[in-house]
Amino acid sequence: MAEPDGRAVVIIGAGPVGCALAALLRRQGIRVEVFERQEERAAGSGNSFNLTLTSRGLDCLPPPAKRRLYLQGSVLGKRIIHHRDGAISTQPYGTADSHHLLSIPRRVLQDILRDHAVRAGARIHYGQTCVGVDPARPAALIRGRDGAAAWVPADLVAGCDGANSAVREAIARAYPADLRVSRESIEHGYAEITMRYGDADPTGMHLWPRGDHFLQAQPNRDRTFTTSLFKPLAADVPRRQFSGLCSPAAVSAYCATEFPDVFDRMSGVGAQLTARPPGRLRIVGCAPYHRERAVLVGDAAHTVVPFFGQGVNCSFEDAATLAGLLERARPGAVADIGREYSRSRVPVGHALADLSLRNLEELSSHVTDPAFLDRRALERRLHQQHPESYTPLYQLVAFTSTPYDAVQRMDRERSAALDSLCEGRDLRRDQDVIISEFARKYGDGRMRGRQRTG
Ligand SMILES: Cc1cc2nc3c(=O)[nH]c(=O)nc-3n(C[C@H](O)[C@H](O)[C@H](O)COP(=O)(O)OP(=O)(O)OC[C@H]3O[C@@H](n4cnc5c(N)ncnc54)[C@H](O)[C@@H]3O)c2cc1C
Repeated sequence: MAEPDGRAVVIIGAGPVGCALAALLRRQGIRVEVFERQEERAAGSGNSFNLTLTSRGLDCLPPPAKRRLYLQGSVLGKRIIHHRDGAISTQPYGTADSHHLLSIPRRVLQDILRDHAVRAGARIHYGQTCVGVDPARPAALIRGRDGAAAWVPADLVAGCDGANSAVREAIARAYPADLRVSRESIEHGYAEITMRYGDADPTGMHLWPRGDHFLQAQPNRDRTFTTSLFKPLAADVPRRQFSGLCSPAAVSAYCATEFPDVFDRMSGVGAQLTARPPGRLRIVGCAPYHRERAVLVGDAAHTVVPFFGQGVNCSFEDAATLAGLLERARPGAVADIGREYSRSRVPVGHALADLSLRNLEELSSHVTDPAFLDRRALERRLHQQHPESYTPLYQLVAFTSTPYDAVQRMDRERSAALDSLCEGRDLRRDQDVIISEFARKYGDGRMRGRQRTG
């Protein structure tokens, strides 16, 4: 552990991002006080879904924390697609062993990161709610269990308090012209389904793509599966529900038709899906991510839809970026950090929001479209033969540290170039011709924005 450096950071929220940031800052000897509105036993228990981590996010964490996550999580190297006719096909996530997802129950991720933060010397105060922020001082107004509120001063206040961030709202209220916030809900909602799935392949993410909706099952180490349904919500009904699924009987009929290969493993699904309203999927964006000496980190800055499985990965990058800026600002100053942090993270957060929404179509329908699969096969081969010139989008997003906005630009350029070479051609028969023409025209980084694939 580094020597104490005299600076103090107040973190609001002991979710995965607040705890990761706390652990990273403690490594520099910075004093860290974390305020969490939930009680200790309840903290992190909001949702039980699994999160998928990739090297992009994992590499930002302290190495001992990363090692513990690997001991508790499931490594998934491929998608396992369950087609309507009962056929099963697989699609690898990348082209190397390191190209995998680490699927981990949210609660386990939370416990491991919290334990690391506390062992590193961060102090977590439970049952303490942030109700205001003074970014100039800076200080956070914290209300305790008895209802009394007091200002807690620091050198920097970091809002890691999720999609409904009180820190973001306090800044937006005080400086409406300077912090622009956008909020949007998409038509899809999600719900968890209990499914016995013990004899299925535990090395991949199981997916049942069905047009505008899909079911997804993520294996756990104890050979259970965490299963989620993503489906549009009904419009114009008073109670939130999936469209067409107004009763237990309607849910059962839907699951029997759409997922016949696993329907007999979903006992009680009708009652389960109608007992609780499905969760909403929201997109919250803002700019900048700071005001004076208060910063927004993780979902507080960018809440994205989960279709790329990158929300928390991007958030760990935020935390590592902020920790890096604080380290370079030693020994005293923190004043310019917010500006620098926003400069590097706002374009990234906005790009991830777009990429995540776009991936919904891939998960719900494209993965079973033969033309799409031929194109993906071509891209994989192009990458295997000319890795310096072409890397598939998924691989760039999940398994590199290339900023998402640069990934987006590269993908636009490369896709347009490949589209023009594919036009009028049979992607299977003419694969070799297309690849050699691509390499001749665009090889050796001749396209703008050379890719960083490390
Ligand atoms: C269905 C779904 C699936 C997802 N799957 C993935 C995935 O596979 N991979 C991935 O990378 N991401 C995924 N995500 C996104 C991921 O869940 C978020 O990016 C991540 O939880 C953000 O963490 P956070 O710590 O910023 O916020 P949160 O997890 O929301 O934590 C915020 C914390 O702040 C506390 N808090 C809130 N307000 C206050 C206050 N006023 N005072 C004090 N404390 C407060 C809360 O109690 C909470 O503990 C998914 C999201 C959803 C909805």
